Amino acid sequence: MRAARFHAVGRPLQIESVERPQLRANDVLIRVRAAGMCYSDIHVLDGVIAADPPVTLGHEIAGIVEEVGSGVTGFGKGDRVLVHFLSPCGRCKRCLQGKGMQCLRLFEREGYGFSDDGGYAEYCRVDAERLIKLPDDLGIEFAATLGCAGITAYHAVKSVARVKMGESVVIYGAGGVGLYALQAARLAGAYTIAVARSEARLRLAESLGADHVVNAKESNLRREVRRLTDGAGADVVFDFVMTDESIRNSMGMLASGGRLVLVGVSNKPITIDPQITVLKEFSLLGSLVGTKDELEELVGLAASKRIRSVANRAFTLDEVNEALTMLRRGEIVGRGYVVP
Ligand SMILES: [Zn+2]
Ligand SMILES: [Zn+2]
Repeated sequence: MRAARFHAVGRPLQIESVERPQLRANDVLIRVRAAGMCYSDIHVLDGVIAADPPVTLGHEIAGIVEEVGSGVTGFGKGDRVLVHFLSPCGRCKRCLQGKGMQCLRLFEREGYGFSDDGGYAEYCRVDAERLIKLPDDLGIEFAATLGCAGITAYHAVKSVARVKMGESVVIYGAGGVGLYALQAARLAGAYTIAVARSEARLRLAESLGADHVVNAKESNLRREVRRLTDGAGADVVFDFVMTDESIRNSMGMLASGGRLVLVGVSNKPITIDPQITVLKEFSLLGSLVGTKDELEELVGLAASKRIRSVANRAFTLDEVNEALTMLRRGEIVGRGYVVP
């Protein structure tokens, strides 16, 4: 079968022929129908996120069950499935408390598309425990993008920031994750303000229900957010950009007692002003992906059309490097995905 594989930092993915994976007792073989493209793929190419080369990238994986291992129950050939790509152990203290993203063994275990082969391939082998069955009427490319962009947004809004009804929320950066976070915050009953530099992204945020959109290039952001929140500032800011500039703006637009949530992975240090932190008594929170339970809830919300798809651009396996370059340049509005 064909796969797009990562061999070394700084080199493009190699499209090559590899053996179709052999199943162990608890494995399922998925015929990949869509694999969403995430900025983390670029972080892998750049050496910001560690992977285990050679490895097939692609961690937003949705497809159809082709074959199941001898020990698998509950899944059969033809089932439509979505992969929860991280593998919390389910047994440690944190997992038992429902905090799978703080699992004590999280980074020793499978991460499909990082340590283990992912979805930029015709087939992908996954432990059956990591699978969620999809309803028939949920688009497969929509489902794929829930696997990282969707779940990352949902976890950040619901479990980390715990956004409450009536709060004001700034979505700083309207990429794939930001656009799902916007929708999750709306569902939670928040008043939403989306900030981005591209008009196309702002229009998309508007069409997904943002109460206000602000172009970061043209406005005095902090003043604009204070104006839109009756002078108080935002209760929650989700910073998906994470540069010194965005953090400075985020801190400036927060209300006293607000929460600043960092989502996504970056290895660039940022500066936190201790004076603003203390004077505003704000909290700084980190948010990582999300649990399988949360992904199941999100699939339910998507199936009942309370979350809308941002997957809007398909690429073939042969186009994957070109597509990643577009992603790096910010040329994909919404979420791109590979159809192997
Ligand atoms: Zn991702
Ligand atoms: Zn655990």
